[in-house]
Amino acid sequence: AGSLPRPAQPRIMTVANQKGGVGKTTSAVNLAAGMALHGLGVLVIDLDPQGNASTALGIDHRKPGIASVYEMLLDDVPLREAIQRSPANENLYCVPSTLDLAGAEIELVSVVARESRLRNALDPEALAEFGIDYVLIDCPPSLGLLTVNAMVAAKEVLIPIQCEYYALEGVGQLLRNIELVQAHLNKDLHVSTILLTMYDGRTKLADQVAAEVRSHFGDKVLQTIIPRSVKVSEAPGYGMTIIEYDPGSRGAMSYLDAARELAQKGAKENGL
Ligand code: ADP
Ligand code: MG
Repeated sequence: AGSLPRPAQPRIMTVANQKGGVGKTTSAVNLAAGMALHGLGVLVIDLDPQGNASTALGIDHRKPGIASVYEMLLDDVPLREAIQRSPANENLYCVPSTLDLAGAEIELVSVVARESRLRNALDPEALAEFGIDYVLIDCPPSLGLLTVNAMVAAKEVLIPIQCEYYALEGVGQLLRNIELVQAHLNKDLHVSTILLTMYDGRTKLADQVAAEVRSHFGDKVLQTIIPRSVKVSEAPGYGMTIIEYDPGSRGAMSYLDAARELAQKGAKENGL
């Protein structure tokens, strides 16, 4: 793997789509692993109480007593204490989620600066210390306070879209929410990247959806499309990213390509 441009400031990206099962977690961990393999420092923040991103990154988030994103959001535990290195790659880190995060959605309601807890926790000095170039935030499938925290902490939104029926269902609502956050809480927030996933080349529909998404979102859509592949769905069961599980597979190659494209596109857009 060749090296990729390093952003001057860490790029903070929220992986969002309130529809479940569209490939948010899969894309967050595999893009992260792809960029890490190319030499970039990447931190995945697991904001979903299910903890699937933590699992895929080989982190035991059920171990009692570990510091997690919950403590960062609600107990002012610093990033330095909640961050863990993934066994997948020395450049890859995770702030795991634990099941108590399910309660955070409610508990946050009565907390001071409830929308900015994650932003305030992302201490630039700690990010620099760990050599983090990219922060990818894996959102739960809802538009509640956890997702709002992700949108306030990030500058960019990455939306994974499935090449299937009803792909764009809910995307309009997501875009309106992004506009609301932009208007009231974070003027820098914008959709920078769309990733087409679960593409099945045998169906005409997949091409139609891909074409429709490209006509809506233009060059925000990455050229690389992630194919539907059983291997991709098997990897997390082994606590691995697809890049570790089967590095030569189409799924791994496509996530590596998408990771390279993401980093190069960002470098171009940010004038690096
Ligand atoms: P979300 O985080 O949006 O809920 P996930 O990333 O968890 O979505 O994906 C939903 C399901 O689809 C998971 O079981 C996952 O393993 C599977 N999956 C994701 N991407 C692919 C793919 N490219 N090919 C096959 N299965 C996939
Ligand atoms: Mg998920």
